[in-house]
Amino acid sequence: MAKKSNKYIFIVGGVMSSVGKGIAAASIGKILQSRGYHVANLKADMYVNLDAGTIRPAEHGEVFVGEDGIEADQDLGNYERFTDQVSVREDYITTGQIYAEVIKRERNLEYGGEDVEVYPDIPKEIIRRIEVCQKKNKSEITIIEYGGTVGEGQLLTFLEATRMMKASNPSDVLLVLISYLPTPSLLGEQKSKPTQRAITDLHSVGLNPDFVICRSDKPATTDIKRTISNVCSLPIERIISAPDVYSIYDVPVNFEKENFGTTLLTTLGLPPRSKDLADWTKLAEKIKKIKKNVHIGIVGKYFNFKSCKDTYISVIESINHAAWALGYKPDIVWLDSEIYEGDKRKLKELDNLDGIVVPGGFGKRGTEGMILTADYARRRKIPYFGLCLGMQIMTISWARNVLGHKNANSVELDADTPYPVIATMSDQVEKIKNKNYGASMRLGAYPAHLQKGSVAESAYGVSKISERHRHRYEVNPEYISALEKSGLVFSGRSPDGILMEIAELPKREHPFYLGTQFHPEFKSRPLSPHPLFAAFLKACVSRKRKVFL
Ligand code: GLN
Repeated sequence: MAKKSNKYIFIVGGVMSSVGKGIAAASIGKILQSRGYHVANLKADMYVNLDAGTIRPAEHGEVFVGEDGIEADQDLGNYERFTDQVSVREDYITTGQIYAEVIKRERNLEYGGEDVEVYPDIPKEIIRRIEVCQKKNKSEITIIEYGGTVGEGQLLTFLEATRMMKASNPSDVLLVLISYLPTPSLLGEQKSKPTQRAITDLHSVGLNPDFVICRSDKPATTDIKRTISNVCSLPIERIISAPDVYSIYDVPVNFEKENFGTTLLTTLGLPPRSKDLADWTKLAEKIKKIKKNVHIGIVGKYFNFKSCKDTYISVIESINHAAWALGYKPDIVWLDSEIYEGDKRKLKELDNLDGIVVPGGFGKRGTEGMILTADYARRRKIPYFGLCLGMQIMTISWARNVLGHKNANSVELDADTPYPVIATMSDQVEKIKNKNYGASMRLGAYPAHLQKGSVAESAYGVSKISERHRHRYEVNPEYISALEKSGLVFSGRSPDGILMEIAELPKREHPFYLGTQFHPEFKSRPLSPHPLFAAFLKACVSRKRKVFL
């Protein structure tokens, strides 16, 4: 019997960034998986950083954390949410990793006295890493998304890797260009020229796309499809229309309307197996019909002039999943915590919300405003959900306002605080001293035990959980007993009882006042919302009923 070959689909962007390459890659994974194929999604970023852990989230989006502790680009979160497969370290490549490995091997004399060249040694290492990802995932089809846009110099070694793979296995490797069709308002018609330029750029490096996905506000017209198909000598069914959608979860459904799954599989020489997108399609339809709103405020510090959608993407999606399950559409507002520092009266606007999330973050800026927010939410009984930093903030606010330790703080935020209720984890002290910041936090999945009868335990419905972490600081063991005696409940702890994983107030005291040292947002899925987000949203929805009806 002939050996079954592994198949690879490369995804590259044309014209401009932010056209939804990540969602397209995740959706391709989803539709192929729904046809019974075992897929893997890999992201390759062009930057020299070894991972995304040291990159500013307001500019580059959320840092997604895997079970194994990888700090990766936010697209790995999209892949997980669409395919419900846990990402692994091997699913994430950067230019920095590629060079670091090649240089390490050169130092070990592994190139046998040859000089090491950018071409072909760098593309060869890229290919090796793609194959490592395939092996680790045992995938039949591996989908590789390149960060950046065709025409950028830093993409060239990666495109050369694709060319080399295509040249040696033409029937196993596909290249998908995801491009943008602008509709200038003066003309009111779609234009294909920028896409044609992107295709020419690909031609100049020896590549022709096998598919072109056309992102645009309206579906691509037949004329445009024909023009593009001519430029790259492709049958018209390989030009896929991808208009703006109501929610990102529509994208796989739309792809299937274009028969994309079947065409992809036939082009790869794979039999189209039966398809099962029923639950997903039902959800995408349900989302469109939801009328009732629930108002959630994200009180954070990473804002830029565009929006916060990328910075807090997993938090936003987790809120969406939980709200949709309850039949509500979240109306999310971004609140910059710094505004409350200048004028406490502004906190009053929080009364109009059904719930508040204080997400993760690093460094002092904006944290005083978050501490005020946590206190306000506690006193006004507004549902409050603190994620990592948000849990530390909740603890600081409690120490200041309930225990009366006026200058209580985290040593991260005030090294000289007289009441360090949040302290450096013991294994982090040396790392901070040596400025060893990269990939050195407490990262990835760790187990926790939940207290019987707590809000957390009733939300999860089990007493042992595992969640993903990314932090250097913890609730200071010296203050635990004072915090508990004054009424704050640590309802989740590490199995050895040392690290406080969840802080909460009992239901009789507050409708929902809970913070997690971990990041539950990384594990929520559209069809199975995270239990803590579900419990938080339930509290938000009942507040809405009380306040507004
Ligand atoms: N800065 C805090 C810490 O390192 C919280 C981190 C986070 O929110 N991810 O502990």
